[in-house]
Amino acid sequence: MDFDTIAAIATAPGEAGIGIIRISGKKALDVGDKIFRNKRQASLRECEERKLNYGHIIDPKDGKKIDEVLAVYIKSPYTYTTEDIVEINCHGGIIPVRRILELVLENGARLAEKGEFTKRAFLNGRIDLSQAEAVMDLVSAKTESSFDVSLNQLEGSVSKEVKQLQNTLLGMLAHVEASIDFPEDDVEDLAYSSLKEQGEQVLNKLSSLLETVYTGRILKEGLKTVILGKPNVGKSSLLNAVLRENRAIVTDIPGTTRDVIEEYVNIKGVPLKIVDTAGIRDTEDIVERLGVDRAKELLNQADLIISVFDTSTELSKEDFHIIDLIKDKKVIVLLNKSDLPSKISEEDIERYLPNKRIINTSIANNEGIEALENNIEEMFLSSEVKIKDNIIINNVRHRDQLLKAKENIEEALQSIGLNMPLDCIEVDIKYCWENLGEITGDTVGEDIIDKIFSEFCIGK
Ligand code: GDP
Ligand code: ZN
Repeated sequence: MDFDTIAAIATAPGEAGIGIIRISGKKALDVGDKIFRNKRQASLRECEERKLNYGHIIDPKDGKKIDEVLAVYIKSPYTYTTEDIVEINCHGGIIPVRRILELVLENGARLAEKGEFTKRAFLNGRIDLSQAEAVMDLVSAKTESSFDVSLNQLEGSVSKEVKQLQNTLLGMLAHVEASIDFPEDDVEDLAYSSLKEQGEQVLNKLSSLLETVYTGRILKEGLKTVILGKPNVGKSSLLNAVLRENRAIVTDIPGTTRDVIEEYVNIKGVPLKIVDTAGIRDTEDIVERLGVDRAKELLNQADLIISVFDTSTELSKEDFHIIDLIKDKKVIVLLNKSDLPSKISEEDIERYLPNKRIINTSIANNEGIEALENNIEEMFLSSEVKIKDNIIINNVRHRDQLLKAKENIEEALQSIGLNMPLDCIEVDIKYCWENLGEITGDTVGEDIIDKIFSEFCIGK
């Protein structure tokens, strides 16, 4: 395809060691030529391809030096966008990158839109849509595990799976066509039984892909965890103990609201987003501060509740209120302050909260924390497919398309079971194929493509 030449600052804004300006398109090298000179006054075109060349950016209008840089050009097609690319590494900081970008724009490039480099890679056929989305997920990954999943997708794991499914569906369509063209009875019987077999194959595959959605979400967003307990049982002590060793490095956490604080931690490879309901003011408890409805809502959204009790005092009305709230939720119970004489036994708790994991802790003495971490790991891994070698769906759009495709194939199978006319069945198989195609971008509309790339950052 024929596109104009685009440019953008590819590095994050602010003071830094280097900043990079990236130019892509037919005129990239022309632009580079006009503004770059090496020590011997050679232009970029006269330098070696794919080599970083030391030199200066010069304003062609007046010969003024703009910055000292390293510049490289890479010829189409083996580049990120498949187009000619020029990259200029200049001094980091706001002024040099901006000056150079302005000069680049004056000399024939247009400012790139968000995600436009990656969009070109897609439109030029180097990657498919799911891979482009993986790029975005890589850049925005907040957990190590989510980064790994997206890296796997960038290499085409989802694409490959979807293409295989689409091939099976194409086979089914060919079968249907043949049977419509040659409607002898025995051929038709054969068609139904083989359609059923292939349809079930597709359904099973879709189901198992969809089973990874939960894992995908947890890996991406963290296991939503609430630490719950009446005042003074040890919630803050627990949070501090867990954070001390496992705090995830996240600088900018969206979704932090005023009444709850979110902390990311990594426990034995499982990312947790701990909602610290103890929060800003230590003395008030969650129900009191948020109100019963908000508290219930928060608990309903939680993937895991760590419920803390103080065993040095009798169970109180507040404890029973909490027990009531968490009875049928995913809970780990901590019987804390086990260093003090005990007023609550494990049996007491088991009676009110049957079938929960119960751990005796003395958080103040760092006892029981390891057991808690082991339990979290077990709980998660038991419901989980192996992260490294499997495809995990961690993108909401992909999930939605898979769900639609699953509905389509279920309808097709139902019609097959009822020996409905083949052209009825054909329609659902086609829909299924199309819905899968939207994942890789084969059958996707321009509006969706634009929406996806508009969520990228500039310069990617
Ligand atoms: P929160 O109100 O639930 O957040 O409770 P805190 O973490 O602020 O703890 C309340 C008090 O209990 C503090 O003085 C802690 O030092 C103390 N505490 C926490 N855990 C233990 C424990 O395991 N044993 C003992 N003896 N005291 C603890
Ligand atoms: Zn507290």
